[in-house]
Amino acid sequence: MERILENFEPKDVFKYFEDICGIPHGSGNTSLIADYIEAFAKERNLKYVRDALGNIVIYKDGSKGYENHPAVIFQGHMDMVCEKDKDISKDMEKEGLDIYVEDGFVKAKGTTLGGDDGIAVACGLAILADDSLKHPPLEVVITVDEEIGMVGAQAFDCSLLKGRLMLNADSENEKELLCGCAGGATVTVRREFKREKAGGDVIEINIKGLTGGHSGCEIDRQRGNANVLMGRILHGIYIGHDIRLIGIDGGTKDNAITRECCAKILVPDTDEVSSIIKKAGEYTAEIYNEYKVTDPDININLDVSEKNVTHDIADKDTTKDIINMLYTVPAGIQKMSCELPGLVQTSLNLGVSATGDNDIKFTFLVRSSVESEKNDLVSKVGCVAGMCGFNMTVSGDYPGWEFKSGSPLQEKYLNACEKVTGIRPTICTVHAGVECGFFAKNLDGLDCISFGPDLRDIHTSRERMGIASVEKMYKVIKELLADL
Ligand SMILES: [Zn+2]
Repeated sequence: MERILENFEPKDVFKYFEDICGIPHGSGNTSLIADYIEAFAKERNLKYVRDALGNIVIYKDGSKGYENHPAVIFQGHMDMVCEKDKDISKDMEKEGLDIYVEDGFVKAKGTTLGGDDGIAVACGLAILADDSLKHPPLEVVITVDEEIGMVGAQAFDCSLLKGRLMLNADSENEKELLCGCAGGATVTVRREFKREKAGGDVIEINIKGLTGGHSGCEIDRQRGNANVLMGRILHGIYIGHDIRLIGIDGGTKDNAITRECCAKILVPDTDEVSSIIKKAGEYTAEIYNEYKVTDPDININLDVSEKNVTHDIADKDTTKDIINMLYTVPAGIQKMSCELPGLVQTSLNLGVSATGDNDIKFTFLVRSSVESEKNDLVSKVGCVAGMCGFNMTVSGDYPGWEFKSGSPLQEKYLNACEKVTGIRPTICTVHAGVECGFFAKNLDGLDCISFGPDLRDIHTSRERMGIASVEKMYKVIKELLADL
């Protein structure tokens, strides 16, 4: 078969990468790629463990003179996100990718490439295969199902590892070195929605047209959250008027900044309707002004949708509790990093509000790169919720990876990079989860960095990987291993 990448350097890295591209390996479908990695280890008589989920760790002794150096972990994930263009018939569950090269990038025809994180697998195998490298004892860890909630890393038995230096190769920019990430937890608060019947006019409040975005990486844009803004409007009209909630519904994902929210209220004294609408108009004008830069298409609309009807509504206490909860619960950025200016340290996003027959729930995603701040914020949400008659549950808790300025591994990586490329990458952290968090939590004293070649538009059919960037990265890894 024609090899598309055989003339590119480093030869081994591109050979393994092309092999991987020929094996379907979307999340949840990793047994074939795990077989391939296992066969690699067997063929070379390298000790390895493949756990029940399919995570693999392969060991190699230190090279001559490095036998007694501290072990180094090299880590990435074997699964990829499968996305394709509408007109592509390929069955990504069963077929490999059609890769090609254009403008110095490797791409796949109409699909994701899986450079995220196939390049880590390819580099890991290339390091293990090369007996001419200088390196400490190696522990190459390839996890499964990172892309669907870091399932493999979460379950990985870290007692299989001796190393306390870890190189994670799951980043996407050769000019950056990732040295920390946020942990997260999904927080859901629920309250009984006690109903009774009453008559009056129904007002429907719709907030639409917000910009939205990712609740981690884009929380620093200070965009409006439709659920939060609804709390402000409801509280504004609740003061001085007898209104009763019929329901609030906004958003579907805890990790997306909510773009739309709809609330219905009943006004028992229909004489109050016009003053309620007037007052809401004042809040709307304030909000339009405050969000004109971040959310230029915001649209808030109040309509009298039904007149003189009898409706199932929340009783007085339920209405008061829900509005107070929505208005007072913390929202958005809570703290910025003092060590890395411009980076968000702690935040939360009220992604979902949903009214059922007998209850109402709000779902938040809390994030922080400092574990104690995450726990404190969860506790604060629980406290506000408790005062308003809500019960809290916490799920999907994953640990952060706390930034430590100037660690020995960071310094050695920067030096290696400068020696090879002439450039010192920028140190950064990310306000979202990466697998390093689980390893940092389970391996006491771990010194960890995350890097990668230039990967653009990952998780889309436009994904592409810079060839020269892979060559640079591999040279830096070799330089670094020789220095550890
Ligand atoms: Zn990845």
